[in-house]
Amino acid sequence: SWSSSDSVISSDSSGDLPEPGSPYRVVLLGASGVGKTAFTSIFAGAADSMDSDYSELCGDEVCEKDIEVDGEPATLTLFDTWDTETDSDWAQERHMQTGDAYLLLYSVTDRASFLRASELRITLRRLRPAQHTPIILVGNKCDLVRRREVSVSEGRACAAVFDCKFIETSAAMQHNVWEAFNGIVRQLRLRRDSKEA
Ligand code: GDP
Repeated sequence: SWSSSDSVISSDSSGDLPEPGSPYRVVLLGASGVGKTAFTSIFAGAADSMDSDYSELCGDEVCEKDIEVDGEPATLTLFDTWDTETDSDWAQERHMQTGDAYLLLYSVTDRASFLRASELRITLRRLRPAQHTPIILVGNKCDLVRRREVSVSEGRACAAVFDCKFIETSAAMQHNVWEAFNGIVRQLRLRRDSKEA
């Protein structure tokens, strides 16, 4: 029920869950400067979240890691580093099709990045017509209180309109970043369990 007939991706496995035991592919999306690299760095477990040499632990674009969520192991492959503003449409859409789940980042200090997140959500809906593809709208940099341009309630309302979860984070303070990753795993499991049922 999830592949639309006019979809260019209907011939691949989009919308399906990964094979049992294979990693969940989680894609970070968002305007440049919103904190995707900082998220990847925290995910990779670099001692200093703002340190950019996490690439020694992982590839430049991909980082795979075993984590535990609610007492159950999960393997996540995190995809990062696509500049969604300068990539060609083709490249961008290809990247957007690689995920089982998406973290859609904006910065609460940058209204343009919030609008960009909405655009990306609309593109995602077209490229990933699967219902219940796990997506979390992430308002990052919530530590920058005085520079805030997007309120919590605006973020929450946007997520409601776009039918996705919402969380505010601070990569700088390492606040709620793992909650976002864990939330994605929980959503993927809910999907898996409802398909097995
Ligand atoms: P990317 O372009 O999406 O990968 O963004 P980066 O991760 O490179 O972050 C852009 C800038 O914002 C860097 O200078 C980061 O140190 C900074 N940054 C990222 N997340 C936060 C945060 O939560 N709070 C603050 N204050 N700065 C952040």
